[in-house]
Amino acid sequence: MELLDNITCLKGIGTKKAQQLNRLGLCRIFDLLTYYPRAYEDQSSMTPIAELVAGEKATVQGLIRGVQERRGGRNGLLILTAVIDDGTGTMQITWFNQRFLKQKLKIGKKVFATGKIQYAYGGQGQFAMSQLSSFEVLEEYEQAENKCGIMPVYSSSKDVNQKLLRGLVMQILQEDVYIPEVIPEAILEEYGLPPRRAALQEIHFPSNQRLMEAARYRLAFEELYMIQCGLLYLKKQSQEQHQGVKHGVNGFKVQELFKHLPFSLTKDQNQAWHEICNDMERSVPMRRLLQGDVGSGKTVVAMLALVKTVENGFQGAMMAPTEILAHQHYDAFCQLLEPMGIRVALLSGKLTKKQRTELYEKLASHEIDIAIGTHALIQEGVVFANLGLVVTDEQHRFGINQRALLEKKGVLMPDVLVMTATPIPRTMTLTVYGDLDVSLIQHLPPGRKPIRTFIRGRDRRPLIYDFVLKEIGKGRQAYVVCPLIELNEESSLTSAQEVYEELSSGIFRGVPCGLIHGKLKPKEKEAIMQAFYDGEIKLLVATTVIEVGVNVPNASMMVIEHAQQFGLAQLHQLRGRIGRGEYASYCVLVADGKTESSRERMRIMESTSDGFVLAEEDLKLRGPGQFFGTMQHGFPDLKIANVEQDMDILLRARQAAAKTLNNQENMRFIIPTLQLLYQEQFLNITDT
Ligand code: ADP
Ligand code: MG
Repeated sequence: MELLDNITCLKGIGTKKAQQLNRLGLCRIFDLLTYYPRAYEDQSSMTPIAELVAGEKATVQGLIRGVQERRGGRNGLLILTAVIDDGTGTMQITWFNQRFLKQKLKIGKKVFATGKIQYAYGGQGQFAMSQLSSFEVLEEYEQAENKCGIMPVYSSSKDVNQKLLRGLVMQILQEDVYIPEVIPEAILEEYGLPPRRAALQEIHFPSNQRLMEAARYRLAFEELYMIQCGLLYLKKQSQEQHQGVKHGVNGFKVQELFKHLPFSLTKDQNQAWHEICNDMERSVPMRRLLQGDVGSGKTVVAMLALVKTVENGFQGAMMAPTEILAHQHYDAFCQLLEPMGIRVALLSGKLTKKQRTELYEKLASHEIDIAIGTHALIQEGVVFANLGLVVTDEQHRFGINQRALLEKKGVLMPDVLVMTATPIPRTMTLTVYGDLDVSLIQHLPPGRKPIRTFIRGRDRRPLIYDFVLKEIGKGRQAYVVCPLIELNEESSLTSAQEVYEELSSGIFRGVPCGLIHGKLKPKEKEAIMQAFYDGEIKLLVATTVIEVGVNVPNASMMVIEHAQQFGLAQLHQLRGRIGRGEYASYCVLVADGKTESSRERMRIMESTSDGFVLAEEDLKLRGPGQFFGTMQHGFPDLKIANVEQDMDILLRARQAAAKTLNNQENMRFIIPTLQLLYQEQFLNITDT
């Protein structure tokens, strides 16, 4: 048996069982071995039967002494009773209408059960267990392996139970499958990590708490280390194997743009700009992430970089997440750059076929210097004469596929600048963007009117909307944001549709209102956003679709309904849609926080407008899963590590990965593992 063999080679696994296991993502022996327990059952902390207390929940273990089946109750229910003995006393466990269970309840078998304890019917002083939350009959090998009383608990499914999973993992471990070490010896030694085989044994069937913890550390380290090696390898590969564009030092055009800018760069912007220039002036392709809160002034920095590439005789491309945003960028770019003789084009989805063909031709013949558009910009069929720089946003991170597309676009590998407006805590940046260098714009440009944020209960809605109406009367515009509601979900939340109907036919009757949500067709969404942008719609009721990329400086108010439903990072993104103009802006969080934690989250929103602080808090309060749920990157699935709790492991793993990549011998050692783990991303890995 080998790690990559199909699980059908295991005893007792036929086609049907295999399919059921496949549904849990378990296809190969390797998948089972790395199907880490989600918890452990510590059977050493079971309650002795003699010490059970009625009304409390408890876990007991014991041997089956007797089984009885009878019919009872008004409906003639089938009642199955087992008597369990743990040496301190006996108790009953009762099931209703579970005929199939009977054959499993063999006298003398060891079981354990968790449930609520009560007095047995009629029996004085004898306990029974009902409302079972778990029940298991242990197999012999489990009893044998269960040395210290710690048993693994796996995520199971309807068809795949604990017992099966334990049995299969045990079978693999006992079969002596060859488990190669994947971390180089020197790293293992330096970081004091146990060998892989031992760690896998201990993580599934620990011999004691300490060894289990050491195993967990090692496996979490391995996981983060491999990701870091993969990311660093990608970076190294693209930098070594591809000749990049070498830009010259800043010249006339960049200086001219600086002169035309209506402001000077902030300290942070300057710093980022210098880092970008340094990268661009090297022949190694740039791979840089520009991180900065909404409105922190990333676009200007990107514009400078694009002008720099044009100045050097190259073309630039800028990808926006939506058509609307592409349009906004286009307008801003034209205004500043056309007077300088730079030819900017918008590759819009609205172009006719003829216009599109014409545009493609101009890109290919270098009659266009800067192209702005959505994803379509790097699709097949778009050919640049001489692409020097691609600016993109986080939604369009480059995987291998896109890279391949880019490579075809130019003879040289263009520089890439990725922008993100989602403040990401440092740990996350290292994990998700480990292959990129990072520039940070932390402080907003001066002179911003801060957005004032208020928390109000639902009973205050009439007053809130009265205020909104007055603001609209002064010529402003407003957003009303509602959480997304799944259809058929029983919920007391009002949907965007309902809020729209309530407002537009109530207090806002006669005021042009709009409704936008994800179920609309892209064309419909565009039309509504455009109307809001043009000031034809005054009050826009929306779901989170407005989160990215609208800039309507005249919108100075936002009411967020059921604000407690949103994550902090998301609320922050939403709030960033206002406060973009010269007007005092207000954000009202309508929330009836029922729990202390949701009230706490709302208070944090009220007290700070620093996106990084909010991101850290969000991560702390909701955990990485939720946090990433609101973002859209392909974050690698972690099986055992937890980026939040394992920050120190992550930092050490990253350091170890850097050391590994500096050593040819180590590289040869880990490449097979990288191939195995990241097949798709690493298809074109060749042994170095
Ligand atoms: P981002 O792309 O980070 O969301 P933008 O680049 O769109 O932010 O900048 C937001 C607004 O701030 C724009 O209107 C821009 O003109 C303005 N701005 C950018 N940098 C500065 C600065 N250094 N001083 C003053 N205003 C600035
Ligand atoms: Mg370069």
